[in-house]
Amino acid sequence: MLRTRKVVAACAGLLLAVLAAACGKEGSPPVKGPKPEQLPVYKVDTGFRLPASPTWTKAKKRGYLRVGAKEDQPYLGEKDPATGIYSGFDIEIAKMMSASLGFDPKTIRFKTIASANRETALQNGQIDYYVGTYTINAMRKKLVGFAGPYYMAGQGLLVRTDENDINGPQDLAGKTVCSAAGSTPYQRIAADYPKAILVAYDTYSICVDNLLTYQVDAVTTDDAILLGFAAKAPEEMKVVGKPFSEEPYGIGVPRSDNALRFALNDALEANEKNGNWKKAFEATLGLSGVPAPTPPPIDRYPAT
Ligand code: GLU
Repeated sequence: MLRTRKVVAACAGLLLAVLAAACGKEGSPPVKGPKPEQLPVYKVDTGFRLPASPTWTKAKKRGYLRVGAKEDQPYLGEKDPATGIYSGFDIEIAKMMSASLGFDPKTIRFKTIASANRETALQNGQIDYYVGTYTINAMRKKLVGFAGPYYMAGQGLLVRTDENDINGPQDLAGKTVCSAAGSTPYQRIAADYPKAILVAYDTYSICVDNLLTYQVDAVTTDDAILLGFAAKAPEEMKVVGKPFSEEPYGIGVPRSDNALRFALNDALEANEKNGNWKKAFEATLGLSGVPAPTPPPIDRYPAT
């Protein structure tokens, strides 16, 4: 216990380093990460043209795509602090899309954007599209467009391994639970579990820091994100209970750019059919222990 506390204290504020070193504990599993040779190579569709899309047209003139993503979500969207290189399942989706739109994925300029700022970033043209555990829902559809879904997650709970009282959202009364501002899991706890004491930060990695230092009792967000954190420090944290929502992940696009949304839907479908989706999944999110599911059906809603 004492040892755990010391290790936990050493972890504070150093989450990425901590996860990378698994808190320096002997016998911790080595950190598994996507190896470049396991990842698919996406063929660039050099003849691709999409003049009906203002986003694509501007990107073509510029010569590269600007893509919004997360940088602290293990196996989904991670930025290597040393090299600045992004990796993970969401990043692979972003690369697949880039290749299909006729841009070499190597040229993508990723920009980290927190959950609360995604709609604004798309609305004011800071990014061309966004791939980062972004749940499609009716409220967001009023502000942005969504291609996909390309994955179905569900809300879950992450606790310390020494926690035995929390096994589902019904156990959160009087407990401190942390989530990201502007996220659907935050909104669901606020609406459906009002007895929980909610704390919001910009990112889930700050929540995880707070969990490891006993500042909060649980972290809530999508199971896909939580399983990644737990997989990197299995002696410190565990995911408990069953998923209690459906979180279909979409690619966010500017709302009026229907041509881009339709092209991304086609590109997703093609990559699901040719095996790239599954290969990408297995080399990234699959490493957190999730077997590759069948991707959910694409929602080709009409032009807005
Ligand atoms: N999928 C949820 C959302 O879009 C939670 C994950 C996140 O914040 O990115 O709000």
